[in-house]
Amino acid sequence: MTTSRTRAVRAGINTDPGHGAVIAPVHVSAAYRRENPAQPGQFDYARTGQPGRAELAKALAALEGTAGAVITASGMAAIDILLNLLPNGARIICAHDCYGGTRRIFDARAGQRGFDLVYADCTDPAALRRAVTAGTALLFLETPSNPRLRLTDLDLAISLAKKAGALVAVDNTILSPALQRPAEFGADFVINSLTKIINGHSDMVGGVICARDPGHVEALAWWANAAGAVGGAFDAFLALRGLRTLPVRAKAQSDSALEIARHLSHHPRVLRVDYPGLEDHPGHAIAARQQDGFGPLMSLELDGGTEAARQFVQTLQLFTLAQSLGGVESLCSIPATMTHAAMTPEARIEAGVGNGLVRLSVGLESPQDLCADLDQALG
Ligand SMILES: *Cc1c(COP(=O)(O)O)cnc(C)c1O
Repeated sequence: MTTSRTRAVRAGINTDPGHGAVIAPVHVSAAYRRENPAQPGQFDYARTGQPGRAELAKALAALEGTAGAVITASGMAAIDILLNLLPNGARIICAHDCYGGTRRIFDARAGQRGFDLVYADCTDPAALRRAVTAGTALLFLETPSNPRLRLTDLDLAISLAKKAGALVAVDNTILSPALQRPAEFGADFVINSLTKIINGHSDMVGGVICARDPGHVEALAWWANAAGAVGGAFDAFLALRGLRTLPVRAKAQSDSALEIARHLSHHPRVLRVDYPGLEDHPGHAIAARQQDGFGPLMSLELDGGTEAARQFVQTLQLFTLAQSLGGVESLCSIPATMTHAAMTPEARIEAGVGNGLVRLSVGLESPQDLCADLDQALG
């Protein structure tokens, strides 16, 4: 069995039967010729299946350790097709501090389909026990959460869900399979936005949902095809190319992020740094146990609140003020008015997303240069 680093590099290499290309060609064709009108070949129509998407799905399923994967047009499309597997009125428990877009689609679908949707603090074992009652259909987790980097104990949460008969889905976008594999803890579904660290170069939008049960893979592929929620050929090519360096990038970005978090935690103008790699972070022990690294993302609270935060992000030079995370280029954002603006102010307060919270995504620039930039913007 090869390591995940080797598997990531070799994904899709030497798979071209036509010309022996080392790197698989991009198949732009919408349709695939049939020999027999009653019998499709391996590929038939590109919405249903397409060679580049198939290679990417195979590579991601191998990295997450699942039976299969379905590539979607975005991370949100992956989350939305999962809801199609649930009956109307199903009870869903969702982490209260999940990605803002996740709450938006869950709220909208709950209204349409009568889901008994409960947002719970899944980092708190007692709250989790209260929420995950017998008959719960789905527990939806995100760990570490975005933007506060709060940790859910996957062993505990998944065992509680199994006792209640619930399926478990984990949004693994912040870490990717290079740093965390929720299926190893028993998660039934693992979702990643390919847009973030998996592609890693911020030049495409895509998503993936991996499933442990082959029947679930088939059902998700059915919905992706029926709804046309699939990704395009060029995006699959870019994501597969990005995936080859994912383990190396994830390690380098995690190392830089830890160095920067340590540096910031000693700065007099920084009131708090949320980074699970810091020993005094409340989720540090859980993160060290269930993750292979601490990831590129951190958030901070500055002395001076909202106004100081606004000035800080506008003074930074090497951190571009933009949504998204995980790319090779460092980014900064104010979640309250950017990634999490779709949440109500009450939901934001509950999730610990204050108006002055700053989120940093650490890229591949030199950490010394990044620290110098942070110092000048704080000074
Ligand atoms: C960005 C993000 C998503 C959504 O992915 P898109 O590709 O933008 O649709 C979902 N979950 C998390 C944690 C994210 O950061």
